[in-house]
Amino acid sequence: MKFAELVATYDRLDATTKRLEMRAVLVELLGRLSPDELGEVLYLSQGLLRPEYEGIELGVADSLAGRALADAVGAPEPRITAAVRASGDLGSTAEAMLAQVPPNPPPLEVTEVYAGLYAIARASGEGSQEAKVGFLVALLRRATPTEAKYILRIVLGRLRLGVREMTILDALAEKYAGGSRAGRVRVEAAYNVSSDLGLVARLLATEGVEGLGKVRLEVGRPIRAMLAERSPDLADVLERMEGRTALEYKYDGLRVQAHVFEDGTTRLFSRRLEDLSGQFPELVRDLPKALVRRPVIVEGERDPIDPDTDEIRPFQEVSRRRGRKYDLERMQEEVPVCLFLFDVLLAPEGPLIDRPFPERRDRLVQLVTTDERIRVAKQQVVASVEEAQAFFDESIAAGCEGVMAKSLADGSAYRAGARGFWWIKYKREYTQGLADSIDGVVVGAFAGRGRRAGRYGALLLAVYNEREDRFESFCKVGSGFDDAGLAELPKRLGPFELDTPPEDVVSGLTPDRWFRPALVLEVRGAELSLSPIHRAAFGEVRPGTGLALRFPRFTGRYRDDKGPTDATTAAELLTLYRSQVKQPARTSEAAAGA
Ligand code: ATP
Repeated sequence: MKFAELVATYDRLDATTKRLEMRAVLVELLGRLSPDELGEVLYLSQGLLRPEYEGIELGVADSLAGRALADAVGAPEPRITAAVRASGDLGSTAEAMLAQVPPNPPPLEVTEVYAGLYAIARASGEGSQEAKVGFLVALLRRATPTEAKYILRIVLGRLRLGVREMTILDALAEKYAGGSRAGRVRVEAAYNVSSDLGLVARLLATEGVEGLGKVRLEVGRPIRAMLAERSPDLADVLERMEGRTALEYKYDGLRVQAHVFEDGTTRLFSRRLEDLSGQFPELVRDLPKALVRRPVIVEGERDPIDPDTDEIRPFQEVSRRRGRKYDLERMQEEVPVCLFLFDVLLAPEGPLIDRPFPERRDRLVQLVTTDERIRVAKQQVVASVEEAQAFFDESIAAGCEGVMAKSLADGSAYRAGARGFWWIKYKREYTQGLADSIDGVVVGAFAGRGRRAGRYGALLLAVYNEREDRFESFCKVGSGFDDAGLAELPKRLGPFELDTPPEDVVSGLTPDRWFRPALVLEVRGAELSLSPIHRAAFGEVRPGTGLALRFPRFTGRYRDDKGPTDATTAAELLTLYRSQVKQPARTSEAAAGA
């Protein structure tokens, strides 16, 4: 395929935020690609060169790209810098400047652009900056204005077509799996296990739905995390689990999926499939010692512990540590951490994800040689509310945030990428008449007043509505930020600033600054109420009202481990609202008018 055809499609995707329209455009695009081009195009369309977990970054800074553009069009660099200042976007500047220079023949092919970008990403070491500029100039010289715009947006990591994985999966299912519900489920299942859209697409194009049977769990390739539902009380938990369940401590740290290869090489992945190996050298060192029978894939929660009392310490200590990569060694001494393993997905004999949970747990216990830093999550099988309550109290006393109940049924396989009642979380907050914490996506900011003049004073937060594929506001939060926290907000939010309201955000409020939904942070509040201003789960409880969090407060925790679509969903908010209605109902009603 000619790159010109692809960018024409990008223009069409760029012009819409409607999931159905995007799907139609993608289906058409799929029909024009050869199997070899499929993977490359799907990665490129998400601004990637390879699946996210491989961590290949283009790593081109604005200055470098500006230099390449200057070279390609034969203009002095200061002219480019001035033009970028006026347009605000290097891509648009390139488009305008190239309009005056005819592209060198022959026209670019998609595979050539991909190869050029790959070469840019891979250049490293001495002289790599020059090499990157060279590859980029070669592409730009042959590019039409529109092609140049997109090439630059991709290399700078700013291609924002808004095409999310779920929309791509929809398109793949429609094109290759007959558009049936069953077909869509199989396509998503293959993606959940492989985390690689390119692989799924290639298999579908060459072998059809049956080809997806080849997708196997592999060490080194992360699997999408299984997630939990909530329950309002332990009696409900037991009822859903048919009277008997395995309760585990719910550690409040960072989820880690560890892949230990046969030779002991270890790679760690976050919940959003990013490679964490470089961040946690101590785990990379310790895990192969604790897991001598290999290869294995295990999952656990990484939490700081107090070396004297063995108590689990608050999450802030982990986050502080994560923000300070430069002083790893000192922090390791100050804040020792422990990995509490709670599942095994692959063992030396093969994948275990289809096996029932009790079998996986037994295998986990057999495989791990526990030591101070690598342990197995504390577990107890309970069959009564009294036993459950005692275990819950014990977990809180040990410093955990609650318990995870896990199904012991025959069907309790590991459900990659799914949230369901096979795992149920029950946290301490639920017992305090206060809803669970909520992970909100920042979509806007309000200018501060008084002491906060000249800064952002409050943020507009949204939940993700999966059905509508959009973000719906539920609160404006200003408390919980200290001075230092406020001061760093512009830097954190800068990359996501927008001049116009994002089309995939709905709110009755108009902030002073809009942001592309990207940054996720955790808030708590007094309760959820009905609101005519906010749009979360709009009209679900009562026509013309959405759900709002009263007295929201930032907990201090940025959920960098979550992407915008991993934030709390509108449906979850609705469940939380309904689960609190047991409290004096009039409070929420009264708040409706507030
Ligand atoms: P939360 O924000 O409440 O931590 P979440 O949205 O990140 O939840 P959930 O699926 O709701 O994810 O809760 C499961 C999370 O709890 C896991 O992602 C994991 O990080 C953590 N966790 C802690 N202890 C356990 C455990 N014993 N078993 C499974 N998950 C655990």
